[in-house]
Order: sequence, then structure tokens, then C-alpha cells
Amino acid sequence: MPPIIEFRDVEKRFGTNVVLKDLNFHVNKGERVTLIGPSGSGKTTILRLVMTLEEATGGMILIDGQPLTHEIVDGKRKRLPKKKIKETRTRIGMVFQQFNLFPNMTVMENIIESPVHVLGQSKDEATARARDLLHQVGLSDKDDAHPSSLSGGQQQRVAIARALAMDPEILLLDEVTSALDPEIVDEVLGVLRRIAETTDITMLIVTHEMQFARDVSDRVLMFDGGSIVEDAPPSTMFTAPTHQRTQQFLRAVLGEGQIGTH
Ligand code: ADP
Ligand code: MG
Repeated sequence: MPPIIEFRDVEKRFGTNVVLKDLNFHVNKGERVTLIGPSGSGKTTILRLVMTLEEATGGMILIDGQPLTHEIVDGKRKRLPKKKIKETRTRIGMVFQQFNLFPNMTVMENIIESPVHVLGQSKDEATARARDLLHQVGLSDKDDAHPSSLSGGQQQRVAIARALAMDPEILLLDEVTSALDPEIVDEVLGVLRRIAETTDITMLIVTHEMQFARDVSDRVLMFDGGSIVEDAPPSTMFTAPTHQRTQQFLRAVLGEGQIGTH
């Protein structure tokens, strides 16, 4: 079985700023992989590339063995037709730091929008599934609410339900608790832990919540300057990281004395 996500010599430039260079890594089906690393190391860019919100400027990304936006034919890089790119994108969901709910729609309308308009589900079918998802994220009574009347933690749980309503094979989570007050971080992480436990959705996660990363990840990738410095299971990464750069980063994030480096 091919990996569900594969980066093959991926380059991403913004103008002259080379953010990712010759990046190679893969994620297997059902794996939960967390990206850690300092701000500006390219973590969000990687998620946005998978979500096709950005396009690589070199190399290729494959989903389930199929090119995502570009294929390489006779050594030449060729962009895929828009329709093909869109098809693959429906298999991928993303939750952002800033919720990104549609402010003029109710919670229910937010959740059923894509299932109805992109997947062609009937409104009844999409609504029934949305109710089930709202129950799962603990917001059964909020279907008629508008996002502005909800707390940050509630809005983020709606955003998670909205992503799940598309039945994604891959879920991308970009610092989904970073904009939340500390006391409501756990309610969102709890929902994500349950999804991790009860589904086989492949997850690519960017988070500063190291305990969460430790608990849900199969693998942790440490990034610096757009390259992978270290690729290890959480048990190794958080207790005995090999690379000095990882040790420094974790010491800064977790505080002195939290990792054994000997
Ligand atoms: P991280 O998520 O690890 O903090 P990012 O992927 O957001 O890092 O950013 C990596 C680098 O790419 C940074 O130098 C950032 O300034 C640059 N970058 C990201 N998005 C854009 C953009 N849309 N235009 C120009 N530069 C960008
Ligand atoms: Mg980021």
C-alpha cells in the first residue's frame, strides 16, 4: 500500500524566500504524525500544501500514490487539471488556528455546506450526520446558534465537526488550540483525543501541546528551517532526542529538566 501522504523532493518558495527545500517524508494510512519546530520553520506551509491552499514550486506531493497538484512526465513538471485537484481535496480536511467558520451562517449551515454542495448529499442526510457530529463534540443544542455567540472552544469544536462532516481520510490540524484561553484548551483536545481513539483517520498535526502530541502521535517530526531534523516516535522524541537542535527546542518549550538528554 502506498503511503497516504508522500512529499517527494518538495520545494516551496515565496518569491526568493525558499521555505521548503528538497523535502522528503511520508505518512502511512492511519498514522498520526505531529510536526514540531520553531515558528517560521515551515509547518503551516506543509499543511497548506497538502490542503492545496498553496502549491509546491518544485517536486511533487502524492496522496495514496496519486499526484496531488503536479505530476512529473518525462522529467517535466506538469500541473494537473483543476477538476482532478478538487477531487483529491475532498478527501482532506483541515482545522485552523482561527476557526474560520462562516460568520453569516448558523452552526448547522456551516457543517452541512460542503457535504451538500461539494459531495451532493441531500439536506436531510447532511443534517442528520451533522446532528450526530454535534453530539460527538458536545454541542447538541447549538445547531441554530451563530458562531459569534459561541466561545472560542465551542467555535473550534464546530470547526472540527465541519471538517469531519466531509468524512476526510486525512485531517490536518494547525495549532487548533493556540488561539484559545488556557482553561478551554482541554475541551478541544478531549474531542480530538476521542477522534483519534475512535477513527482511523490519518492525522497530520501541528501543536505546541506536547502532552497531547505525546499521547496521540505515532511519530513526531522536528522541523527547522524547512527541513526535518529528527523523525522519531514520541517516546524517543520527548525523552531522549538525538539532535542538539531538538534538545534546545524542547527545552525552550517544555522548560528545563523536562527531558532527559543523556
Ligand atoms: P510555521 O508554521 O512553522 O511557523 P510557516 O509555514 O507559517 O511556518 O512559515 C514558513 C516561512 O514561510 C516563514 O518565513 C513565512 O514568513 C513564510 N511564508 C509563509 N506563508 C507565506 C506567504 N503566503 N507569503 C510569503 N511568505 C510566506
Ligand atoms: Mg504555523
